[in-house]
Amino acid sequence: MTDNVYSTICPGCNFGCGLYIRENGALEVDFRKSSPANAGKLCRFGMSLPKIFAPIRPMVDGKETTLEEAAKEAAKRISASKGSVGFLSLGNTTSEELLAIQKIAESSLYTGMVAGLPEDTYQTLNIGIPYSEIEAAKHIVLFMDPYEQYPLIVRRLLFAKNKGAKISAVWWKDLPLADENIRPLDVSKLALSKDSLIIADYNPLSDTEQVKSVLALAKNAGARITFLKPFANSTGAYLMAKGIKQKSISQLVEDINNGAIKTLFCLESDPSALFPSETLAKLSNLIIQAGQQPSSKANIVIANEPLYKKKGTLINNEGRAQSLGCAGTDGLDALGIIAGAKFDFDTLNESVKKAIGITTVDEFTIPKYDRPAYGAIQASIKSLDTKTALVSVYNPFMWSGLADDNDFVELNQRSVQALKLMKGATVKISSNGSAIEKKFRVAPVQDNILLAGKRFGIEKGIITPVELSR
Ligand code: SF4
Repeated sequence: MTDNVYSTICPGCNFGCGLYIRENGALEVDFRKSSPANAGKLCRFGMSLPKIFAPIRPMVDGKETTLEEAAKEAAKRISASKGSVGFLSLGNTTSEELLAIQKIAESSLYTGMVAGLPEDTYQTLNIGIPYSEIEAAKHIVLFMDPYEQYPLIVRRLLFAKNKGAKISAVWWKDLPLADENIRPLDVSKLALSKDSLIIADYNPLSDTEQVKSVLALAKNAGARITFLKPFANSTGAYLMAKGIKQKSISQLVEDINNGAIKTLFCLESDPSALFPSETLAKLSNLIIQAGQQPSSKANIVIANEPLYKKKGTLINNEGRAQSLGCAGTDGLDALGIIAGAKFDFDTLNESVKKAIGITTVDEFTIPKYDRPAYGAIQASIKSLDTKTALVSVYNPFMWSGLADDNDFVELNQRSVQALKLMKGATVKISSNGSAIEKKFRVAPVQDNILLAGKRFGIEKGIITPVELSR
């Protein structure tokens, strides 16, 4: 391998796809066929990495500076705001940096955990099953759109299907690979057995009752369940923070809105995908430390190296520990400036291995994890409290706050006819006094539901009540 080729992991989701990034004037993506998670295959997001890793500059109040100066200024403002500082870390960076931010944040750490879930479900929620178990399943039930949200799972699903697995989808639109399509509000029609494997999505904006209800379905049927997650190191974030006091995104929004948090430090986490802009506007200081361009306007940008140049450990959805193949510690060093004491990579790396229960990071071996049974769960499936709703189908582009070309909504033929929408025209979507016009595509979607793989700025969470007109 030459000096300008990096063996790395895609930051698009927790699937853990391995690839090479080649610096050759411009950035190029090369396939890494030896990668156990994806055997070299990449989705649209993985193929877009050169765009995603466009250079980013350290800034303080709009003025370009050095990484060190940006980190020093951040340290100064954090110290001056003592008592009203929050630290946000979703898990889009190395486990070593995640341990470092915990030491800085102490009791002000906000993570991707969802509030209100029983603690005995945490391990099930955060550590998925080996993908080989998906390929061997007899009945797979999808509570998400694999094509849009976690594209590399589709290959595993097709493999299972070719071996005779039945695939049921509990989703807002019919999925082409499903043998049976059930709408989320008709979930009582779903028949599960101990041979069923439920695959669901668990992300920082997940609805607590919805997560509880799929956990309860699996528990009651004796079925297996696994959750896919949106950030490259979501599983590592859980393992590193086990037993540490942490707060949810909904708590952070509340704390910013009521003035308890005035300075927010985000580690490789873009808050614009999570919060309404009016919440972000209440902050006195938004400090973002990242290796890729955030879409939020920050007072301070601590621009460290992109993920593909970092040294450290990621843990994919299966619990597989993966080493990033480079030597960069700019991010860790910047965290050291904020902490007022340098972090030693090797010490943190030893702690990471201890937390996983391994002595060597070997991506070809999945460490053994406890998979404790969780207790009975009461959950109530909420009916939609609105006639029409816009459903945001969160995907890697949305979590990264990156522009994508899917600037349209999907709705069904009946809705198009009822609204008398013309081919090639737009649909007007109104919510809480805001209105936008969007192109539409006809798809086999539930009546009165619009699906969008992009945020338009009118959303109020994952499901937004809307009114439609032409
Ligand atoms: S976004 Fe996820 S599925 Fe797509 S290439 Fe990256 S890790 Fe793989």
